[in-house]
Amino acid sequence: MVGPVGLLQVVRGHGVPRVDCKGSSMGEIMGTVFNIQRYSIDDGPGIRSTVFLKGCPLNCKWCSNPESQNRNPEISHRDSLCSKCGICVQVCEAAAITVDEAGVHIDRDRCNVCGKCIDACDREVLELMGRSMTVEEVFSQLQRDTDYYESSGGGVTICGGEALYQPEFTFALLKRCREVGIHTCLDTAGYGTSSALQRILQYTSLVFYDIKHLDARIHRELTGKQNGLIMRNLELIIRSGVPVVIRVPYIPGHNDSKENIEALAKTVSGMSKEAKVNLLPYHRFGMGKYAMLDRRYELAKLLPPSKEDLSKAKEIIESFGLACEVAV
Ligand code: SF4
Ligand code: SF4
Repeated sequence: MVGPVGLLQVVRGHGVPRVDCKGSSMGEIMGTVFNIQRYSIDDGPGIRSTVFLKGCPLNCKWCSNPESQNRNPEISHRDSLCSKCGICVQVCEAAAITVDEAGVHIDRDRCNVCGKCIDACDREVLELMGRSMTVEEVFSQLQRDTDYYESSGGGVTICGGEALYQPEFTFALLKRCREVGIHTCLDTAGYGTSSALQRILQYTSLVFYDIKHLDARIHRELTGKQNGLIMRNLELIIRSGVPVVIRVPYIPGHNDSKENIEALAKTVSGMSKEAKVNLLPYHRFGMGKYAMLDRRYELAKLLPPSKEDLSKAKEIIESFGLACEVAV
């Protein structure tokens, strides 16, 4: 079965949404969610549940979750499972799907995400990426693991896509969790309004904060947006006193220069010596997902960084008095 597809929730464009919860019951606020991962141990302290929201105003070339970028639900296809029976083509009233020797192709302009092809396919080739859920629906799933959170010092992490891209939903969900004593982590690239962030921080126990590049022009080339708002929001978080871990995707040939690592360490240490920095080595695990969404992966030939290069970057960051770890 296909879950409820929130066509009413469709939001086009890459503006910066604002938090405005007036007049609506918080539990009924809808968000577009593409995954709720239980028993996660990489998204903050202890055992956690991680809520992945769909939609991101940035468009990082190395993104390993391309299914998270588009704010709207969409259909993915795993061609290796396809028998080429053509049943999905027959049931598609929008004439959006074709199947040939190479596999399945979906015309994204025609597809209305009705899900009929998913229901018709008995080989689970097709999958709905993203569905509308209320805060209360998500919370009731998160609550099932309260015992694990308590025994491990864990909690709930909300990420994306970009959690600040659905600020009302993020605010309401973190508030709901904190009201019952669940530790909350906001995993964000910081591209949201400062007013929304400020409200969300009231119910945030820990922030994971991505910084991709210190140079505004290069940041724009790599992600589609400049970094001014992101750096201002980092200052706001540090001033708020909520603990923050800076996460730097380390992408060979893109943001790994000595100048950029030094500039990053100098800027962060100028704001706070308490902030920790995690280097996240580039990997290609998400590459296959681009084809499943009929998209091209630009960095197909890029190799992960060497341990030596990562160690040098770590040393530079530590030389500015900051604690730094390389994620494994
Ligand atoms: S119904 Fe499923 S198996 Fe048949 S062609 Fe479509 S995607 Fe492939
Ligand atoms: S989701 Fe609906 S419109 Fe889109 S390809 Fe499948 S059947 Fe066609």
